[in-house]
Amino acid sequence: MATFRTLDDLGDIRGKVALVRVDLNLPMSDGRATDLTRARAVAPTILELADAGAKVLLLAHFGRPKGERHSTLSTSLIQGAVEGVLGREVMFIPEVAGPVVEQSIGILRPGDIGLLENTRFWPGEEKNDREFAQAIADNGDFYVNDAFSASHRAHATTEGLAHLLPAYAGRAMQAELEALGKALGSPQKPVAAVVGGAKVSTKLAVLEHLVSRVDHLIIGGGMANTFLAARGIDVGKSLCEHDLAAKAEAILDAADAAGCAVHLPYDVVVAKEFAANPPSLRVCNVHEVAADEMILDVGPQAVEALGDALKTCRTLVWNGPLGAFETPPFDAATVALAKTAAALTSEGSLISVAGGGDTVAALNHAGVAEQFSYVSTAGGAFLEWMEGRELPGVAALERA
Ligand code: ADP
Ligand code: MG
Repeated sequence: MATFRTLDDLGDIRGKVALVRVDLNLPMSDGRATDLTRARAVAPTILELADAGAKVLLLAHFGRPKGERHSTLSTSLIQGAVEGVLGREVMFIPEVAGPVVEQSIGILRPGDIGLLENTRFWPGEEKNDREFAQAIADNGDFYVNDAFSASHRAHATTEGLAHLLPAYAGRAMQAELEALGKALGSPQKPVAAVVGGAKVSTKLAVLEHLVSRVDHLIIGGGMANTFLAARGIDVGKSLCEHDLAAKAEAILDAADAAGCAVHLPYDVVVAKEFAANPPSLRVCNVHEVAADEMILDVGPQAVEALGDALKTCRTLVWNGPLGAFETPPFDAATVALAKTAAALTSEGSLISVAGGGDTVAALNHAGVAEQFSYVSTAGGAFLEWMEGRELPGVAALERA
């Protein structure tokens, strides 16, 4: 288990100033937050600190202002959404450092919450500028990072601050690190990985990392076509990166050498046009795909075999849908395997961890996200972790 400090390690924090890095990069439409998931994820940490009597100052980025003030990207625009989620008043503070912040801290009482301006209004944030970080740190007593999803970036408020103040993982960060540790750090074996999605090119590093760490590698989605083609199978008009054939071969060889069983589909769902329930839809063996057809989902026989493989496993890590799940009926394989994984998890025989933007959407579509042991909404940070990379914001917490 990682060696980071959590909120459990805080002593008496009454009246102390907590600088808390959160992910409040909420999707917006017409000036309103359309999805409060990120705010909900960090609420427990904020409320726990406030209830312990700290003055809680929230540090967050919002959009991509590239080091300049933009009124359309001020965190003041999400103040109301954050107040709604927390059920508390939040004071907006239009700076991240300096006398305005200092004066605001003087006004805040123990247990009050302040929302600082968009950290990316200052170029020092993304440059991880030491002086910028120090100016922020000067107003705080300790630092909490609860933004796993931003911690693949070494920015002043995701990494730099951890070196300047006593640093702690927030509750959401802690839960994420614990879940990810159980999935790939020191997992119960056998371990299965599902890697799907559109392209091999975006997940090469993930596949390379996983082959030596998992017992079963289930490859689905468009990227499976690249592997099938590399094995000499004609995939017709399917999405396929023919130029990656050699890389695909190398991954298959590495898997062989490591004793990892690679599962590629042997039956597939194909169509001549990419549309919902197209008339040309059919199921066939991978060797029977016609030149004018494309593979849009894993076939029912293969899915059943994948379910059987999962039943022999204790741990599952999943990134990427098995088919073009947004368009029916190409969601069938993803939904079926997700339901199997969810049922095994509910029975207590499988630890299931999933992540990735489209993967989360697919599991929600299947109605099983709640049943998975852990679903990461971290996007880029989750993928980097799947690649086995050290996330700077996490590493800084571990060293602190
Ligand atoms: P994530 O966001 O979970 O990491 P990706 O972005 O890698 O996942 O991939 C998701 C996309 O892959 C979806 O939009 C899905 O439609 C697409 N996809 C899956 N299978 C296929 C396929 N056989 N052909 C074309 N696109 C596919
Ligand atoms: Mg995606």
